[in-house]
Amino acid sequence: MKEKYDIIIVGAGPAGLSAAISIKKISDLNILVLEKQANIGERKGGETLKYDKFLEKNLFYPGFFKEITVNATKNYRFHSPSTKHFSEIESTEERLIINWHKLIDELGKNLNQNGTTVKCNKEVVELIFKDNVYSGVVVADGTNYKSDLIILADGCKNPIINKYGVNTPVDVCPVLTLKAHNINLDGNYIELFFSNGVDIPPAVVAMFPRSETSVSTDYVQFVGSFKKDYSSLDIKSWWKKIRIDNPVLSERFKNAELEYCFTTSLPFGGPVIENIIPKERIFLVGNNAGHNEATGGSGLITSMKMGYEIGLINAEIHSSGKIEGNFSPGSKNQLIKRIQRTPIFRHLKKLKTVAVNLRNAFFKVLDTPEKVDEKWDSFLAPTLKNAAEFF
Ligand SMILES: Cc1cc2nc3c(=O)[nH]c(=O)nc-3n(C[C@H](O)[C@H](O)[C@H](O)COP(=O)(O)OP(=O)(O)OC[C@H]3O[C@@H](n4cnc5c(N)ncnc54)[C@H](O)[C@@H]3O)c2cc1C
Repeated sequence: MKEKYDIIIVGAGPAGLSAAISIKKISDLNILVLEKQANIGERKGGETLKYDKFLEKNLFYPGFFKEITVNATKNYRFHSPSTKHFSEIESTEERLIINWHKLIDELGKNLNQNGTTVKCNKEVVELIFKDNVYSGVVVADGTNYKSDLIILADGCKNPIINKYGVNTPVDVCPVLTLKAHNINLDGNYIELFFSNGVDIPPAVVAMFPRSETSVSTDYVQFVGSFKKDYSSLDIKSWWKKIRIDNPVLSERFKNAELEYCFTTSLPFGGPVIENIIPKERIFLVGNNAGHNEATGGSGLITSMKMGYEIGLINAEIHSSGKIEGNFSPGSKNQLIKRIQRTPIFRHLKKLKTVAVNLRNAFFKVLDTPEKVDEKWDSFLAPTLKNAAEFF
């Protein structure tokens, strides 16, 4: 027997969960969220974000972000590849270092309370297309679920819509993540160390202070710096190399005890795409629509905000009782324009420019390594200052 829902959401990440919550805010529609992992939030997807009043009010409750914050700072220090130069920047807003599991648990709790059905261990492998209409999904165990509208929030690793001839942005980059104690921090700074790009690929090590003596660290390759399969590369050796070359970083980690350390090759959504309604009755949201920029962006906030918007739009379309009419060419264009006018979409467009500028400035610094300091002062330091409001 096929189960029938009003709206199906594929993927219980920040985008999909937020969409489900906003639908329920303005309707009593029957929603199904399908997640391929055994539990929601199993794979950690970030621990830093900026306070967002709108999301706190609409998805959580006043004071929530403070509750899940383990540390906060407005101060950044960017070290040049030679570490002879650094730029200190005070951002206009605080960057919060939060507990990912608490964030996702709260979104899940909200869905439990509003009666949304969430099914885990359900990997969507196909969309049902019948009589010229996308009308449901098939999961790996063979179950079919039918629905009037489908929101795809399945991230950027392997989006299901790619199977249907729609390209979505993805940049794969190798990441080393570690958490360490007994760190010699120099104040409450988020510190970013740039690699010289000579012996190891151009990358940035970001240290997020969690307490006075502990940090979580990401080593993130600059997306787009080189395109190849990273799975066989030894990212840990790059980490050792950058530490040896970098006296400041070495000093910080002199007595460090590692709590965990792993390397992986991760897909990041690239720049935001214009058309998030690639097929009739199907919406893309979150990383699969590029609502994230790996350099300087805040994927969590932007994915949750876009999720919220797309959820509201879906609830309105469904409740209007004129689903089909919304997807005629003229109406669909209106819908897309409406999405592009939202403050969050406009913010994402600006973010793209900032990220591209930063990346270009970074590569200008690296093109003549022997003059790195001179170039740092002329290209990268001013660009970082301009981008400060986005960090
Ligand atoms: C290591 C790392 C660190 C990051 N750090 C930060 C940070 O500090 N701050 C920040 O703001 N952002 C950060 N990001 C980015 C942030 O995690 C993403 O922008 C955000 O998670 C995107 O949300 P999403 O819901 O679109 O996608 P995802 O979080 O990828 O969620 C997609 C969900 O869909 C599920 N899924 C996929 N395919 C299927 C399928 N076929 N069927 C059913 N379910 C499926 C997945 O299991 C997953 O749960 C980081 C990302 C990574 C990987």
